Amino acid sequence: MLSFDVLIKNGTIITMDRKNSLIVNGVIGINGDSITYIGQEENLQLINASRVIDAQDGIIMPGLINGHTHAAMTLFRGLADDLPLMEWLNNYIFPAESKIDSDFVYTGTLLACAEMILSGTTTFCDMYLFEGDAANACKEAGMRSLMGEALYDFNSPNYGSPENGFSYTELLIKRWQDDPVISIAVEPHSLFTCSPKLLREANELALRHQAPLIIHLAETEDESKYIEKTFGKRPVYHLDELGILGPNLIACHCVHLNSEEIKLLSDKGVRVIHNPESNMKLASGIAPVNEMLSSGIKVGIGTDGCASNNDLDLMSEMDTAAKLHKIKTMDPTAMDALTVFKMATIEGAKALGMDSFIGSLEVGKKADLVVIDINKPHLTPMYNPYSHLVYSARGSDVVHSIINGQLVMYDRKLLTINIQSLMEKANSLAKRFI
Ligand SMILES: [Zn+2]
Repeated sequence: MLSFDVLIKNGTIITMDRKNSLIVNGVIGINGDSITYIGQEENLQLINASRVIDAQDGIIMPGLINGHTHAAMTLFRGLADDLPLMEWLNNYIFPAESKIDSDFVYTGTLLACAEMILSGTTTFCDMYLFEGDAANACKEAGMRSLMGEALYDFNSPNYGSPENGFSYTELLIKRWQDDPVISIAVEPHSLFTCSPKLLREANELALRHQAPLIIHLAETEDESKYIEKTFGKRPVYHLDELGILGPNLIACHCVHLNSEEIKLLSDKGVRVIHNPESNMKLASGIAPVNEMLSSGIKVGIGTDGCASNNDLDLMSEMDTAAKLHKIKTMDPTAMDALTVFKMATIEGAKALGMDSFIGSLEVGKKADLVVIDINKPHLTPMYNPYSHLVYSARGSDVVHSIINGQLVMYDRKLLTINIQSLMEKANSLAKRFI
C-alpha cells in the first residue's frame, strides 16, 4: 500500500530526466521533502494521500531555476532605465544602494520571492548586500536559494570595509550550513570592482568551505577593454592567471568571449549563467550560448536583477532566449524550445551544482515542482508541451507550487507571504529613492 503526504494527479508530467520522459495522465507522490512515486495513474495501486491536488489536465513540471538574481532590486524596478551599464551602475544603482539597509533587502527579497513563486520559479541564485536578511526572507517564503554577499573593493553599507566582507560571508556559511533550502556561496562582484588580491582571497575562502564562487564575467565590451588595459589580459585570462578558473566557479553573463576563451572555460569546468533580457536591456551584447553548449559548458538561465530586466519571470526569459539566438545566428533551428527549457530546469541545476537533488522530477529528488493550467485560449490545443512552455505560456499560468515538499502556492494564492501588506511596505520603502 502506498501512502503519500501529497499526491498530484491528472496532469502531463514533464520529468526532465535523462530521456526527457513525458508521462501522460501522470501522478506524483510526495513524502516529506521528496518525490517518492512517479508514474501513470492507472498503474498506481492503493492510494492513501493526506492531500490530493488535481492538475486538471495541466502540466506538472520541475520548478524553474533562476540562475542569477539580485532579488532585493525589485525595489529599484523602473528607477533608472535606458542607460549603458557603467553609467547605470555608477550614477544610479551604486548611489541608490548606498541608502539601503537590512529592512530594504528583506522586503525587496520577499517581494522577489512572491514574484518568482507566482511565475513558476522554485530556486534562485542571488548576489546582493545584507544577504543574511535576504536569506531570512527566502526562508520565510519557503524558496530554495544559493546566495552570497557581494564583495568588492569599496565600503559596503552592510559590512563596512572590504575585509569585513569575508568574515560576514563566513558567518553566513556557518549560519546556513545545515539548512534544507538555503546554501551560501562566495560572491566577488566582478573583475572591475574587485582587485586581484580580493579575488584570490575570495576563491581561497570558497575552496576552504567547498562553496561555489560566483562572479559577473565578461558582461560588456567596456569591461573587457578596462581589464585588458589595466591587467594586460582579457577577463577570462585575467581570472585564469589568478588561478580562479575551476569547477567551483559560476560565471554570470559571459557575453564577450572568443572561441579560445570558451574552450578554456570548458576545459576548466567553469559553469555559466546566461541572462538574455538584462544583456539586451543594457545593450551588453549576445552571449555565445550555442558555442558554449557545444563545447560542453553547463549553462543555466537567469533574469539578473529587476533594475535591468525589469521582471523575474523565467517564462518570458525562456521565450526571449530562444528568439534572441535565432536572430543572432539567422537560424530558426538554433536554441530550440527543449534546449531552452533544459537551461531553466535540469541544466540550470547542473550549472548551480544542484542536479543531484533538483532540476528534474524523479523518485528520490526533492519535491520542487509546479503545475501549469493549460485550460486557456493561448494554450489550446497542445501538441508539444515544451513549445507551449517556452513560446506561449506566461508566468501567470502557474497555479500551484511545491518547494522542498512544502505547498507554497495553491490555486495562485501564496501560502507563505502576505502579499498585500508586503506591497504596502515596498511602496513605503521606495519613498526614500524619490
Ligand atoms: Zn548581475
